[in-house]
Amino acid sequence: SDHRLSYPTKPDDMDWSIFYPGFTAQATEEETSSPKKLTKDIEVVDIGCGFGGLLVALSPVMPDTLLVGMEIRSQVAEFVQDRIKALRAKDSEQRSYQNIACLRANTMKFLPNFFRKAQLSKLFICFPDPHFKQRKHKARIVSTTLNSEYAYALRPGGIVYTITDVENLHEWMVQHFEAHPSFERVPEEEQEADPCVGVMRTETEEGKKVERNKGQKFVALFRRLEDPEW
Ligand code: SAM
Repeated sequence: SDHRLSYPTKPDDMDWSIFYPGFTAQATEEETSSPKKLTKDIEVVDIGCGFGGLLVALSPVMPDTLLVGMEIRSQVAEFVQDRIKALRAKDSEQRSYQNIACLRANTMKFLPNFFRKAQLSKLFICFPDPHFKQRKHKARIVSTTLNSEYAYALRPGGIVYTITDVENLHEWMVQHFEAHPSFERVPEEEQEADPCVGVMRTETEEGKKVERNKGQKFVALFRRLEDPEW
């Protein structure tokens, strides 16, 4: 259950400094009472990050970009936090892994409380829980309503990355993003040229499991379109 999770009322109220000590700005005197500011905004979100394989693999690929994984299971989120702490300690000379963090949160709720409109450039949805049964479809992390929240947080040109081993869920995600006026599917050639796609296929824990079981992986990317002018 997530009823005890706390959320900032608005993005500016969120204190990210404990998550990204290496990217925390020195506060001026009059700022000391408000949350400490980061030197840059979080730009990449991994929805349901599980054990953090994607974050850890992407960290050195985009060392100047802040990435956050959001995970609803408290023990899993704590595992990822400890994993990042250990990686930072091991590599403290290089100051590696300062750009990744994991937050325990239910991404189906309050995403706009954490991120401003058009703040994000990439959003990953890797091997989401399939919720096979019809009556469970409302628990899916891709839906018309949630896609509108993703569209809000993503900047025009930003990309949603999806991957699953469940063909039916892949079709569901494609259908819901293609039907949404804020998104268009990224052509396959461009998809395959994107280095994040390879990382998503091979470095997520679920991706590795599917590999071991010789299963198929279905990938689809969607671009956030410009809003029409009124
Ligand atoms: N993305 C990881 C990977 O590819 O290895 C984990 C995939 S796992 C099948 C799905 C994850 O999503 C689980 O860790 C689950 O706890 C998490 N999850 C499910 N619903 C969520 C929600 N509403 N908010 C945040 N995390 C969620």
